[in-house]
Amino acid sequence: MEGINKATAEIIAEMDQRLTLNPEGTRRIGNFGFIELEETWGDEATIINTARISSTNQRLRSRNDFSERDTDLLYQLLRDAHGTPFETVYFRYRFIAPIFVLRQWVKHRISSWNEFSMRYRKPISVAYIPDLEARSVDGFPVLDDQALGEYEALMKQLFAWYETQYQSACQRIDGAREQGALPAKSGGRDPYRGRARELLRNAMPVAAYSDVYWTVNFRSLMNFFQLRRKADAQYEIRQYADAAFALFTARLPLLARTMQRVLDENGRSSA
Ligand SMILES: Cc1cc2nc3c(=O)[nH]c(=O)nc-3n(C[C@H](O)[C@H](O)[C@H](O)COP(=O)(O)OP(=O)(O)OC[C@H]3O[C@@H](n4cnc5c(N)ncnc54)[C@H](O)[C@@H]3O)c2cc1C
Repeated sequence: MEGINKATAEIIAEMDQRLTLNPEGTRRIGNFGFIELEETWGDEATIINTARISSTNQRLRSRNDFSERDTDLLYQLLRDAHGTPFETVYFRYRFIAPIFVLRQWVKHRISSWNEFSMRYRKPISVAYIPDLEARSVDGFPVLDDQALGEYEALMKQLFAWYETQYQSACQRIDGAREQGALPAKSGGRDPYRGRARELLRNAMPVAAYSDVYWTVNFRSLMNFFQLRRKADAQYEIRQYADAAFALFTARLPLLARTMQRVLDENGRSSA
């Protein structure tokens, strides 16, 4: 990829490594997107055991001990909105997504975020490029090839402008240091370069990619799937939600089946 900076090259190398190390737990999305289900804490047995504290001291040692009765209880708890046992199982996803997707995702407040910072690093110098499917409604391309070409050129121009301005700011800072007009760098973050990055990032488009760790409990994850896998959710966040769902399903298939059953029933009763 031409014109990419160091931060971007490092992210590409790391993505390639994760795809090799964890092929079952990772997915590429769009021209630069990525998602990985990195870690999960707890499982179906955790939910049953925490729910049973109210009525018995019997506990499952693992989800391999599940009986039909436990499977039924899992379904009933979810169907009847016994919420808190479903808050005891956690997931940490890592995703690289356009900022406009993150703007929608971060609205899911019951979760924790850690995000790539353009205060401390240069931006990821790749923008989301919609493919033909993303550009089309009922097979009709609402943005034609010419518009797409101009869009791509505009994005490249923005990244190039950032780079030029940042280099120029760094040269002026270094020059002023050499002349003794600014204090010498004393290790750690350079406040002058940092301020330049803080301001220059304002010109970055919402199509630029960012990098996030998202930690979420199952109750909130289910809400996310319900809202962001629906047909009326925007195409791009839906792609991420579908991928997150597929990775979750591979990890906890019984919980995924139970959730889908409840969502389908809720959908039928509200239709
Ligand atoms: C198709 C679509 C279009 C949307 N359009 C817009 C839009 O135009 N503008 C916009 O701003 N947002 C929009 N949203 C975002 C939407 O309003 C929600 O903020 C988002 O979906 C997160 O859902 P949530 O609040 O259920 O999730 P979370 O924030 O994760 O909350 C989970 C649950 O916790 C409870 N909860 C959380 N916070 C509170 C609280 N303060 N008070 C009471 N209960 C709480 C609620 O039960 C909630 O469902 C859109 C969402 C979708 C799916």
